[in-house]
This record gives sequence, C-alpha cells and structure tokens, in this order.
Amino acid sequence: MQTPVPDYLQQILDECGAPNTGATADYIPELADADPEILGICLATTDGVRYDAGDADVPVSIQSISKPFVYALAIAELGLDAVLKRVGVEPSGEAFNELSLEAKSGRPRNPMINAGALTTHALIGGGTASVEERFELVRRGLSDFAGRDLSVDEQVYASELDTAYRNRAIANMLRNYDLIDIEPEDVVRGYTRQCAISVTTRDLAAMAATLANGGVQPMTGQRVVEPAVVRQVLSVMMSCGMYDAAGDWMTTIGFPAKSGVSGGILGVLPGQIGIATLSPRLDSHGTSVRGVRLCGRMSKDMGMHIMEPP
Ligand code: GLU
Repeated sequence: MQTPVPDYLQQILDECGAPNTGATADYIPELADADPEILGICLATTDGVRYDAGDADVPVSIQSISKPFVYALAIAELGLDAVLKRVGVEPSGEAFNELSLEAKSGRPRNPMINAGALTTHALIGGGTASVEERFELVRRGLSDFAGRDLSVDEQVYASELDTAYRNRAIANMLRNYDLIDIEPEDVVRGYTRQCAISVTTRDLAAMAATLANGGVQPMTGQRVVEPAVVRQVLSVMMSCGMYDAAGDWMTTIGFPAKSGVSGGILGVLPGQIGIATLSPRLDSHGTSVRGVRLCGRMSKDMGMHIMEPP
C-alpha cells in the first residue's frame, strides 16, 4: 500500500530535519533573528489540492522567490521583446547581489539576480506609475498567483531598507546605464517592499502550482498569465533560479526552482505540482540547507528530475 501524502511529507521532514546546519541571512537584521527551527513543506496539485507538513502556515517574507513572478508580470504587461531589451536570460554564475552587467549587451544577465530583478520591478507600471502604484501592481499580481490577498511584513521591509546599500549601488549602476528610467531610490524602495511580501509555505506551493498549471491559479480558476509567459519564466528559473548553484541543482534535483534568503524554496513540475519548502538556515549560495535536502529527497523518491528517462 502507498503511504498517504501527508504521512510521507511528515516522514521526510523527520528524516531530513537534522543536522540543521547553515546560518540565517545576516545582512538583513530582521532575517538574522528568524527562528532557525522552522521547517515546513507543501505540495499543491494543478487541481487545487494542497498537502503539507510541519510549519507550513508560518509566514515569512518572500524575498527572491518574488523575482520569477514579477518577471512574469513584466512580460505580461510589456511583452517579451520589451523585457528582453532590458534583462537577459543567461546564467550569471555569480552571487545574487553581484554588481555586474553583460559585457556585450550591457543588460543585467537575468531576472533572478538582484540587478535583473530591480530592472524588472522598475518595468512594472510602464514607467509612469508612482512607487506606490507600481508596488500595488506587484502585490496584486503576486496575490493572484497565490489565490489570496497578500500583505507586507513592515518590519522586514524597514529592516532591509535600512541596510540596502548594496541594492542601492546596483540601482545606481542601472540608472547610469539607462536600464531603469526612474529614480534608483524609488526602485530600491519598491523592490524591497516586493521582497517583504509575507507568504506561508502553503502560499508558495499555490504560487508554484499556478506556474505548473500553465498560468491558471488552480484554486480560484483565474488565468493570471498566458502559457507562453509561464514557459519563459520556468526556462529562466531552470537555468538561473538557483544562482551560482544552478548547475548543481539542475543536475542533481532537476526541476525549475527559485530560492530566497528567508529560507524558502519554490519548485515546479510542469503539468503536475507546485513544491515549496521552508527552513531559514542558508548555505553559502543563500539557499536553505534543509530545503535543498528535502527537495533532493523528494526528487529521488518520486522521480521528479524532469530529464529522467521514462
Ligand atoms: N531582498 C533580498 C536582496 O535583495 C533578496 C535576496 C534573496 O532572497 O536571494 O538582497
């Protein structure tokens, strides 16, 4: 007899929970203080059923997991060509917060590193929206993916904005090269607020399931983006979602994914399920140590590597 899904999820939490190595993100004071024991997992099917175990209802800030969704919103609003003029699709092989641009084209290498994500954020609202209007478009868009109204963790927002010197440096570089048309400080404020949107592991799985389902939110039935947008986003997640560990992730675990410094990992099995894990302690790439372990375990147990021969 097969193990029921919730029992299986609890079992892998028990087996992959130790050792709890790594460190919480220390460059954002509010994240440094996160409870390192939090451990949650959720799978969401494309027909709207969610299975979870552990701390799947504990809210955290979404951080970089917002990036693929805002990329999707930018493509939906402006079209792929307009977005490609500003942001590339090549893996960077560098850290997420590297101050660098593509040598030839002068664009940020991809929308998953901060340089690309700041640029993508600035594209929302067609360059005429105010900081608040742009953020509201982002918040509403992410809420549509999640299937419920999301709000901001104001403490994380204030804490990150206070110390966002590196992202300010990147935004100034982007303005200097005309990659963003609005004031760097406005972009940093909006992007930092985007990263501070509060989600649970269950929300992340629902957002992933919307991508798995070709852009239709499985619980609400709303079409959030077109299938062509999803294809673009998942392709970029596959090659660039795990920063400078993207190759290692893709060869060993093998499904498109995105990590964030609050400890979340979101993964997508196209046509099947959305996957989310949460554990705040990170490795040297800024990715959750136990989250990688859990995803690796699921991939092995359930044959989730998308290149797995039939
Ligand atoms: N808000 C974070 C930053 O910009 C996001 C980084 C991440 O989650 O990887 O530094």
